[in-house]
Amino acid sequence: MENVETQFLDSKSFPRILEDIDTFIFDADGVLWLGESVMPGSPALVDFLLKKGKTVIVLTNNATKSRAVYSEKLAKLGYNKQIGKNNIVNPAAVVADTLHRSGLTRDKKVYLIGTQGIKDELDDLGIQYFGDGPDPVENHHDGKTAFIYDLELEEDVDDVGAVVVGYERHFNYIKLMKAANYLKDESCLFVATNEDETCPGPNPNTVIPDAGPLVGAVKIASGREPVVVGKPNTPAFEYICRRWEINPQRTMMIGDRTNTDVKFGKDHGLKTCLVLSGCHQVEDIVDNHENDRHDMIPHFYAKNLGSLVETGEFAVKKDAKELSAHLLEKITLAEEPYAPQPRRTVYY
Ligand SMILES: [Mg+2]
Repeated sequence: MENVETQFLDSKSFPRILEDIDTFIFDADGVLWLGESVMPGSPALVDFLLKKGKTVIVLTNNATKSRAVYSEKLAKLGYNKQIGKNNIVNPAAVVADTLHRSGLTRDKKVYLIGTQGIKDELDDLGIQYFGDGPDPVENHHDGKTAFIYDLELEEDVDDVGAVVVGYERHFNYIKLMKAANYLKDESCLFVATNEDETCPGPNPNTVIPDAGPLVGAVKIASGREPVVVGKPNTPAFEYICRRWEINPQRTMMIGDRTNTDVKFGKDHGLKTCLVLSGCHQVEDIVDNHENDRHDMIPHFYAKNLGSLVETGEFAVKKDAKELSAHLLEKITLAEEPYAPQPRRTVYY
């Protein structure tokens, strides 16, 4: 086993790497916020970077709300007002952009399994959609047979240009069946927001399925592979490159998941930093190392964003040693990470 090259960052070591980085891309959930609460210390780090003239981009895999709504949330949680809608990238915006650039004609509609965030972004680009919201089984089936052998589709297959799948709490068998039937037409595009298996929440004992299981169901039922736009996939990176002039080698992706945030950064030539304030922990870095998943081993790790600036109460009080020193003994950091989540290591 070779040495893990992941370096620990804190308020003393972080300033030393600053001159090599022009652009910081932050994941949101588990990094800037946790559910509806601000991640303590994170606004101070964002302020610090803006004062240093760095470009700040927020790249979330959450498509449930539009960029405008996330912009309001950042402001409400105390983030610098300079960070607005135009600093945010989410799969909803990338899905709309992908459909727009695919040449989806005005007369074609999108069958949408997804929520308000995608609707807002599709509205922004004038793309027609249908199917969102509840679609109860009882409206389609009398319960006399176990399977549903036929289903009336509300739109003619020829009029549906794409099926978009994201997180949707009303997801059910009817939606799955409709999506699979629209996708029978090979010319119908299949676009997915993201494939995160779960999302973090305030109760670490509750598993909260994200869009991944829904996308997986449509994939299997339709036999089609979607274009997945969210992290770690390339459409999100290309979208960022179209909007900002970034030099990947001078850009750092900071997130709380190794299989989305870190992989996204490593796959696209960015520097990467895992913060331990959300999903994945030091043990996951060690697991990735043992499984030779170098695409999911970050260049750096830190307790949380607040620990990267001298903000008093949020600064790391104890010296943490380099990860390599921890590796053999598998010692975790001296302090418990903020609101730890259940460990799940899933390899794509
Ligand atoms: Mg996250």
